[in-house]
Amino acid sequence: MSKIIIAIDGYSSCGKSTTAKKAAASMGYSYIDTGAMYRAVTLYFIQNHVSLSNSKEVETALNNITIEFRINAVGQNQTYLNGLNVEDEIRKLYVADKVSEVSAIAAVRHAMVDQQRKMGKKKGFVMDGRDIGTVVFPDAELKIFMTADPFIRAHRRQIELMTKGEVLDLEDILENIKKRDVIDTTRTESPLKKAEDAVVIDTTFMTLDEQVDQVILMADMVVLKKWKA
Ligand code: C5P
Repeated sequence: MSKIIIAIDGYSSCGKSTTAKKAAASMGYSYIDTGAMYRAVTLYFIQNHVSLSNSKEVETALNNITIEFRINAVGQNQTYLNGLNVEDEIRKLYVADKVSEVSAIAAVRHAMVDQQRKMGKKKGFVMDGRDIGTVVFPDAELKIFMTADPFIRAHRRQIELMTKGEVLDLEDILENIKKRDVIDTTRTESPLKKAEDAVVIDTTFMTLDEQVDQVILMADMVVLKKWKA
């Protein structure tokens, strides 16, 4: 049966990436984490003191950045920035703190969207982010918009960071999540919004397995309908 494009957009820490990753694995699809790409750009900008208001500096920096995804020995997706594994570094709060500002820059978005479209040339992938169903792949066969209560989102992120050795106050994480929500939904360039034809999943009271099952069931239905047509 033919494969489709699954676009998952939504707020930070709703479980998009974890759900997308698991659903993709069980369907034999690939997974593309676009948030990791914006985080990698942000890390580069921080490390190289790129001034966000200087368009020449931003442009030069973008020309010097290569982002790739590689699968490690235990099957996990790892983000590489100019040949270096930055998977852990890009998840840290100092990167999260700057990423929405960097992602709001038009030149950054254009560069990332170009790359995402190239990565998605062959159907059969799950891509998660903020503008996948609206801008990157508006023709995706299945579009999902994820949301959840901000407090629950902060709590989930706190646990995730804790498992990676970063112990942070819930209030600080909540503040970062709220700040990112505001910037992501109000920016001029491809703001986060639900695509008209997206299905909303509120994950506040859902387990991860329930979220994954729901995505897989919806994808199966889309594929069946396509096959019947
Ligand atoms: O998904 P994640 O939380 O890792 O994304 C980090 C940030 O990257 C988001 O808060 C948003 O500012 C930006 N982003 C974006 N467009 C995407 C994916 C992420 O603007 N497609």
